[in-house]
Amino acid sequence: MLIYKFGGSSLGNAEGIRDITDIIRKAPENLVIAISALGKTTNALERVVKSYMAGDTGQAGKELETIRKFHQTIVRDLFGSAGNETGKELNSSFRNLEELIKKVPSAGYDQTYDQIVSMGELWSTSIIASWFRNQGIPAQLTDIRDYLKTDDTFRDAQVDWEVSGNLIQKYFSNPGTERLITQGFIGGTAGGLSTTLGREGSDYTAAILAYVLDAEKVVIWKNVPGVMNADPAVFPDAEKLDELSYHEALEMAYYGAKVIHPKTIKPLHNKNIPLYVKSFHSPDEPGTIIHLVDHPLDLVPVYVIKRDQILVSVEPKDYSFIVEENLGHIFSLFNKYRIRVNLIQNSAVTITVCVNQTNGHVYKVIDELKKDFEVRFNEDVELVTIRYYNREAIDKMSRNREVLLEQMSRLTAQLVLK
Ligand code: ASP
Ligand code: MG
Repeated sequence: MLIYKFGGSSLGNAEGIRDITDIIRKAPENLVIAISALGKTTNALERVVKSYMAGDTGQAGKELETIRKFHQTIVRDLFGSAGNETGKELNSSFRNLEELIKKVPSAGYDQTYDQIVSMGELWSTSIIASWFRNQGIPAQLTDIRDYLKTDDTFRDAQVDWEVSGNLIQKYFSNPGTERLITQGFIGGTAGGLSTTLGREGSDYTAAILAYVLDAEKVVIWKNVPGVMNADPAVFPDAEKLDELSYHEALEMAYYGAKVIHPKTIKPLHNKNIPLYVKSFHSPDEPGTIIHLVDHPLDLVPVYVIKRDQILVSVEPKDYSFIVEENLGHIFSLFNKYRIRVNLIQNSAVTITVCVNQTNGHVYKVIDELKKDFEVRFNEDVELVTIRYYNREAIDKMSRNREVLLEQMSRLTAQLVLK
């Protein structure tokens, strides 16, 4: 059994879909394919939800119409016309959604979000399955919501492993020459509502399927040659990493590298299933393999940059030491506003943390902290993490920059830069 996952970037236009058709044709038997939404559809659907929930039906309708046109263009490019069965089905699904967003929301934000945003994966899989069949590939489309059962924590749904395991095993085992196509990222509650597993969650779906079906391997197909040591958009000389351990992949994801969804690793590690990250442009290249590694990895420095950070220093007003009691109070405030602390440094009387500034919640924390502490902060800083650092790598990143903080452990250097 083999699990393939295709993400939005490989499915942004008809060309990408043609590329993956070839890959599927050449794939071995017993293949399950998890697919996410086409291109940037999920972002666009998020905008629909935002406008709809804010009561701006006009704007929501406009956004939705753009998404409809994008999908119909792909259908036209593939099939030569959007008037076929696929195009008609798609239009009727869009019409239903158009009707829905004219009504007053009947549920809360997150539940509504999941019902609307999950459509992206339903559309993409329906187009691709009928395209494969059009190309003579025996393809079976399965609605994952009937098999991957979750609780109702909308937008971050938790998998019911026992129920899902049984259902998935019954249906997905031994597809033989038939290609089983299903949706990544989404699931269903026992009561029949749609859920989502968190942004970028279709990698996780692939790992769930692999775990339950005891797959030999998972391949995540991307538009880059594999896992890179830096973002190629920022570092033109970024290099592909040939091999990573599960542990290293997790560390990289933790520090913010856009490697794979962090939840993906655990199920694969637990059953020792290797994960390949490969380019759909050059399927014969080896890509990156993430697996159990029993030898030391000789890695080049790996760079992860987090922008929009704020560095906050907290000092007790009465000059008392930062004792556990103070620490507990400080971190409970960050926790209260769901702010992840990306770096911590403490001295006798000061504790300094680096956190995301983007959604502005940090200013609420700062206001609360000011009641008991002296608070200073630096806005718009960058947090650079270098795994497998060396002097040269640190110099490269800090050249012509003001270094506000530097922290080193055995394998990881972190710099806060202005
Ligand atoms: N389409 C979803 C997203 O953009 C899931 C995924 O791409 O993995 O977050
Ligand atoms: Mg993705």
